[in-house]
Amino acid sequence: MKPAFIAAILTALSFIACSSAPLPPLGENDFKGTGICQLAVHGFAFPAQSEKAINDSVRQLLERHRVALGFVPKPDFRLRMRVFGNYADYTNATFSLYWTNAADRRALQGRPFTVAGFYTSATKEIVTWKQQMPGFLGTTLLHEASHAIMDAHYDNVPAWLMEGSADYFAFALHPPGELQQRMMRQRWTRLNEWLRDRSLLPLEKLLNATNTDFKHLDPEKAYTTSWSLFQLLMSNNNNRTMMLTMLGERQSLHEKPPECSAQIDRLHYGGLKKLETAWHAWIIAGSSATNAPRGQLR
Ligand SMILES: [Zn+2]
Repeated sequence: MKPAFIAAILTALSFIACSSAPLPPLGENDFKGTGICQLAVHGFAFPAQSEKAINDSVRQLLERHRVALGFVPKPDFRLRMRVFGNYADYTNATFSLYWTNAADRRALQGRPFTVAGFYTSATKEIVTWKQQMPGFLGTTLLHEASHAIMDAHYDNVPAWLMEGSADYFAFALHPPGELQQRMMRQRWTRLNEWLRDRSLLPLEKLLNATNTDFKHLDPEKAYTTSWSLFQLLMSNNNNRTMMLTMLGERQSLHEKPPECSAQIDRLHYGGLKKLETAWHAWIIAGSSATNAPRGQLR
């Protein structure tokens, strides 16, 4: 799940709508499509052109993940996306069918519901509404599609890695538009502010945050710092190899996965402390490159 920070696609969604029309029963058979994306569309006709654009984007996104992380995509991987025609049906379905447990509701912490779309591993679907469906997948939906890809190919992905990689790949897929560039500049600025006023999340806390912990962090800080750390780890081969070793050790476990900070302390050539120092230096160096987004794959 990701709160949508992108103003242009967020719009004024800060209410939970009540629809008088009962929701249609939702099921497996709703999903149609012969491409990598299976779409379930409720209450409107989905343009064939958009369906093609979504399939193209998701195929590219999967390829980026494959190249960066070095896994073999499952031949039967399909991305399932449920799209509602109106906002009321979307929010009703969210709260009656998907976010039914107390932890999900608590995660909102009294904040308005401004989630433009989300991925749920329980049913392996992205759920959204048609507001978010321009000619190609928007950054938010690419973010959710990344979760679907990671969920299909890995177990025990730490929350920071799940969220950081999703933003990284979502930003990197298409040449960044003006809005995305502005957002990335803002992220670098905020990172530097947090570093200066000593309010950046401690690396150990970020690395070890469970999914529940993560939902209770300040969302802007949690997503921005995760994105920044993932960028740094993707920025050179040693870091990337270290991260992939860490992730590899968390696969096919019979017991609880180890603390991510302990793994990195052991696997990083200078331990956790050195990585934290390198991360801070990365943030400072990045602040001068305001107009050169560093979310691109290298
Ligand atoms: Zn997310």
